[in-house]
Amino acid sequence: MFDLNSLNPEQRQAVIHKKGSLLLLAGAGSGKTRVITCRIAHLLHQGIPAEQILAVTFTNKAAREMRERVREMVGQAAAKGMMIATFHSLCVRILKVHIDRLGFKKNFSIYASADQQRLIKDLLRELSSESSSADADQVLWRISSAKNHLISADNYQASDQDPVSALVAAVYPRYQRALKAFNAVDFDDLLMFTVQLLEEHADLLEHYGSRFQYQMVDEYQDTNPVQYRLLKLLASAHGNLCVVGDDDQSIYAFRGADVANILDFEKDFPGTKVIKLEQNYRSSGNILAAANAVIKNNVKRKDKALWTASGSGAKIEYHLCEDSEDEARQVMERIHAEKYRHKLNYGDFAILYRTNSQSRAFEEQLRYENIPYVLIGGQQFFDRKEIKDVIAYLKVIQNPADEVNLLRILNYPKRGIGAGSIDRIIRHSADRGISLWKVLQQPQQVAEVKERTASACADFTTLIKRYQQRFKKPLRLLETLQELFVELKFADEIYRQEKDPQVARRRVENQEELLNSMSVYLDRTADPDLTGFLDRISLFDDDAPGKNDKESKLALDAVTLMSLHSSKGLEFPVVFLTGLEEGFLPHKKSIYETFDIDEERRLCYVGITRAQQQLFFSGAQQRRKYGKLEQREPSRFLSEIPEELIQKSAGEQKTNSTPEDEAASASSFFDNISQMFGD
Ligand code: ATP
Ligand code: MG
Repeated sequence: MFDLNSLNPEQRQAVIHKKGSLLLLAGAGSGKTRVITCRIAHLLHQGIPAEQILAVTFTNKAAREMRERVREMVGQAAAKGMMIATFHSLCVRILKVHIDRLGFKKNFSIYASADQQRLIKDLLRELSSESSSADADQVLWRISSAKNHLISADNYQASDQDPVSALVAAVYPRYQRALKAFNAVDFDDLLMFTVQLLEEHADLLEHYGSRFQYQMVDEYQDTNPVQYRLLKLLASAHGNLCVVGDDDQSIYAFRGADVANILDFEKDFPGTKVIKLEQNYRSSGNILAAANAVIKNNVKRKDKALWTASGSGAKIEYHLCEDSEDEARQVMERIHAEKYRHKLNYGDFAILYRTNSQSRAFEEQLRYENIPYVLIGGQQFFDRKEIKDVIAYLKVIQNPADEVNLLRILNYPKRGIGAGSIDRIIRHSADRGISLWKVLQQPQQVAEVKERTASACADFTTLIKRYQQRFKKPLRLLETLQELFVELKFADEIYRQEKDPQVARRRVENQEELLNSMSVYLDRTADPDLTGFLDRISLFDDDAPGKNDKESKLALDAVTLMSLHSSKGLEFPVVFLTGLEEGFLPHKKSIYETFDIDEERRLCYVGITRAQQQLFFSGAQQRRKYGKLEQREPSRFLSEIPEELIQKSAGEQKTNSTPEDEAASASSFFDNISQMFGD
């Protein structure tokens, strides 16, 4: 049931606010999302028809949760017809009905990154034979960014100072024409076209403006120009727009989000009622004090004072660990200890990190200790395509009769063995009962296979045989794996295939993690070989029969692993903020991105403020990079937090820990609990 008395006076004011624009600019955990949810319930209680309500959230998950909360408060029937959606899903709904006005058919398809990539490459090839795949990435990135800023193909201007822009100016109109010919739109078009529809068709603007009489937007600080324009259009008739957000949590500038949207809201919507919320209901005092201490170092921000009525709570623990594996073990120890001490569930814990590749060490340790976990916003490490591709090589090197993996890598990275040739090779092998591996060694015997293809097959088998020899040397396993990476140029292939340069960089980082995994294996094993490494990996293989699938894991009570970016808006009783090191947080970014220390600090603030009762910081003294150890420095953000809030401990200096060591540490951990917590 919904009860206005469960809100503080400011929240209540926002919930019962009737008409006109409303801005709720308030810090983390102050109940902004809760205000939106209660406001929807309140409107429904007042007899406002559900169809008149529109709430926009940042992720599908957030939309789902909000819908469920509202249903709990008002009942299924009363909630029917309200629109709680993300920007993209809202736009799909609108375009499905009206896209014919833009000359598309209503059964249009939505092109995701692989399709876009293919299209752009074709167009580039038509324009010039010299353009590389790096150009394709850049061009797509630029087109996306233009669309987010509402710059259409017709209006795009090349600049003299910027060589890529000339290429973009040439490709962008062709790209849009091709999409239209395929009756397809890309993700950015969804928003841009919806705005175009509303701008060009007064009847549609009138229709949607009056349909959505009550509009609410969560995480407003992360809206980009096209989203902003859409909201402004929809609210233009009545101005009943309620936005909530926190400029300190603006973390998507790299995708075109503009924090000015929230800071200038009052100017854009004259007469806006502004409500501040200052009480934090989420975190205990020490956690909140740390968050405040960090964020106050950002100069450009609206000053906010958050306070909590709950006590100071436990101190934040900071653990300086030896390396990634040590960090993962320390986190597991804390999970065991906290779970036992506070009778918590696994679902009460979240492990947060800056980049998705950092999840690898945690995943390994969680699996090793049989702790259920869910990975949000990323695939399980060993399920990722780029990892499976490399492992497929290793499996074929170990066993060339493994035809599934053989077929997976036969033309990966591309070596000119096309799908038609592969079909002929498979048929030849099946008709004569000869293994694929044998056929590949005598490719000239396959009918209708071109000479070039035959020689590519021969090169491939020679490569595999060469690595079979090299991998026989146990002392050179890591070097050999590195040689394989270099020789096959996996990274180049990823950059060729992946449109989004940031995604590509992450995938390359993931592959590098595999080298680290090999390096850990070598450290922990007395007589290592390729088979042993693969056995260890396959323990982590979700495809193996009898292993949990994702569904059953979600149903389980599980630890959450996710990046700081995807943790926005969520909360957990116990949070591990890991990798607190220079290079991770703040992150050392690639050439594609500009370095913005304030945005990194906001990410840190987001991470800290996810915690309700207990917050653990950790960082490593050294990490493996390309399998080699590299020294790390603690994050500058740590030094911004008053010492009295933090309890520090250093890791046991173990480098060569074996599973036996870990068993020992697991039992001594129970002995340590009482010392650790003083009871
Ligand atoms: P974020 O900035 O991280 O998105 P938020 O401002 O949206 O945070 P909410 O998630 O809405 O904050 O609320 C944080 C927590 O505080 C939730 O568990 C919520 O139920 C609780 N809370 C909010 N307001 C109150 C209240 N008046 N009384 C009790 N609990 C509250
Ligand atoms: Mg929120």
